[in-house]
Amino acid sequence: MRYISTRGQAAPRDFEAVLLAGLAEDGGLFVPAEWPVLTPAEWRAMRGLSYPALAARILTLFGAGDMPIGRICEEAYAGFGHPAVVPLVQLDRRSFALELFHGPTLAFKDMAMQVLGRMFDHVLDKRGERVTIVGATSGDTGSAAIEACRDRAAVDIVILHPEGRTSDVQRRQMTTVLAPNVKNIAVHGDFDACQDLVKAMFNDAPFRSEMHLSAVNSINWARIAAQIPYYVSAALAFGAPDREVAFSVPTGNFGNVLAAWAARRMGLPISHLIIGSNRNDILARFLAANDMSAQPVEPSLSPSMDIQVSSNFERLLFELLGRDGAATAGTMTRFRAEGRMPVPDSAWREATRLFSGFTLDDAGTLTEIRHLWTSTGYLADPHTAVGTAAARALAPADPAIPVIVAATAHPAKFPDAVERATGIRPPLPARLGDLYDREERFSVLPNDLGAIEAAVRAHARRNAA
Ligand SMILES: *Cc1c(COP(=O)(O)O)cnc(C)c1O
Repeated sequence: MRYISTRGQAAPRDFEAVLLAGLAEDGGLFVPAEWPVLTPAEWRAMRGLSYPALAARILTLFGAGDMPIGRICEEAYAGFGHPAVVPLVQLDRRSFALELFHGPTLAFKDMAMQVLGRMFDHVLDKRGERVTIVGATSGDTGSAAIEACRDRAAVDIVILHPEGRTSDVQRRQMTTVLAPNVKNIAVHGDFDACQDLVKAMFNDAPFRSEMHLSAVNSINWARIAAQIPYYVSAALAFGAPDREVAFSVPTGNFGNVLAAWAARRMGLPISHLIIGSNRNDILARFLAANDMSAQPVEPSLSPSMDIQVSSNFERLLFELLGRDGAATAGTMTRFRAEGRMPVPDSAWREATRLFSGFTLDDAGTLTEIRHLWTSTGYLADPHTAVGTAAARALAPADPAIPVIVAATAHPAKFPDAVERATGIRPPLPARLGDLYDREERFSVLPNDLGAIEAAVRAHARRNAA
């Protein structure tokens, strides 16, 4: 399997190179040169596989078969808190929650990160290389990355978070990981300051090569690939390829729903993809009126979707533009410069045939959490609730099509919102029950590049002397 860039100017790469590179050198995102398409018989043959075996089968189609992918997937999902890994829970007559939050940090990012950490380790070990992963987080991504990289021999990881601005659960999920290769830094500043520091480290070329800096951000193709199997698993459970299904996905960076699109591109009969947004509704505005214009980000009850520029949208744009790299590059350049993406009407109309968008504000989110609780006894986190409300509002006309909602976080990860809506404070699962008693370890540093780089260097070199 070869990968090409959405901007058409990068040399084709294999899966391993794409995993390590993240972004293509022309600024584009890697996509398969050709999508694998399966016959109905090939889909049927996957029924009954365990989740790790199914994941390995799908990842092999995308070129991960040169790695010990069976073992990697077994280990990645062994620590999940449910034997089905991604259980389905019925919510009403035709809608179901696909629970993607049984991993170590209680959010769906573990589904891909647990695989990615092990892939990195394998490839680096084989090449005799090491990397230092640096990242900034306002919450979910940092903890998922730390859990994925802890105790990996070839990887050091440093995560910056804004001091005092993450929730207690989110901070503790990062700072109580005491593995020697993990370092947490609380920065005097906000999330943007943390992100600017990370960018500045990557732009400091001598530092970047000295530390072998790397990232595991959401544009990495391997993360998308590792999110495809749960859409396959759910669709097969409902009778695919012999029955159509629809998915509703609460969306921020467009990564999760892009994986659902990929499953459809591979031949799974997915009739509709419903996109749920909070008040940061750039995607809903695009689908309603071809208006892809960035507005200032506003905080909401579903903070992991507080995003205005959905970076993975570029991969869909590339497909909508007939895989024309020059046209994609031009469109993205104008979006960057003008804050508005000029999508041709024909491409927009094609997108609206499959996707529909729904927006829910904070009040609506609380109402939805309460409604689910009183009508079904299901406790949903605020992100999932955006998805369930979208599913109900935009369900396909044909009642025989089940609507499967991506449940992206455990309710205990956002206990304040859930308690406000239902009066119930969801307890942490038993395996995390002592989170509030665990020892925390982190450094507090000023918003100063020199100080941060010195801390990263000391961490990466701690064993060198
Ligand atoms: C990251 C995240 C999302 C958004 O996923 P994207 O791939 O960015 O669209 C939704 N819900 C939760 C809980 C998340 O952590």
